[in-house]
Amino acid sequence: MENTVENMKETREIFSITPKTDCPHIKLELVEIWAQKPVDVKKPCEICNDANENWRCIECSKVLCSRYVNEHMTEHYTKTNHSLAISFFDLSTWCYSCDSYVTSTILSPILEDVYMSKFGTLPPNSDKDSNNNGEGSSLTRS
Ligand SMILES: [Zn+2]
Ligand SMILES: [Zn+2]
Ligand SMILES: [Zn+2]
Repeated sequence: MENTVENMKETREIFSITPKTDCPHIKLELVEIWAQKPVDVKKPCEICNDANENWRCIECSKVLCSRYVNEHMTEHYTKTNHSLAISFFDLSTWCYSCDSYVTSTILSPILEDVYMSKFGTLPPNSDKDSNNNGEGSSLTRS
């Protein structure tokens, strides 16, 4: 149990951080804004053109790089106060205002959209599968 601090560095790879489930910034209208622009996970950062690890702003659809590249998404939040962004790298959703990973069923269409762009198929535990009887998904504990 002593090596927990070291393990923290790895967690973003394996996604063992529990996302916040009550982020007040997630709103239904964001899904409509999102749907107006098709997602492309290969899109480079709009400012520095880096294509390695980008995020898309859920509030205005801009694609910008992560804090591990040139921090352009962080800069975007500072300028615009747009809180929510989704990672093209691991499909996690980050809320800058909550300073936490977040999750919500409201975001499911957005996640499916990014997953589809990245893998060319819907996520295995998608709602469109009728056989989700509460087993399998480790993220659904409400
Ligand atoms: Zn939030
Ligand atoms: Zn950038
Ligand atoms: Zn934005």
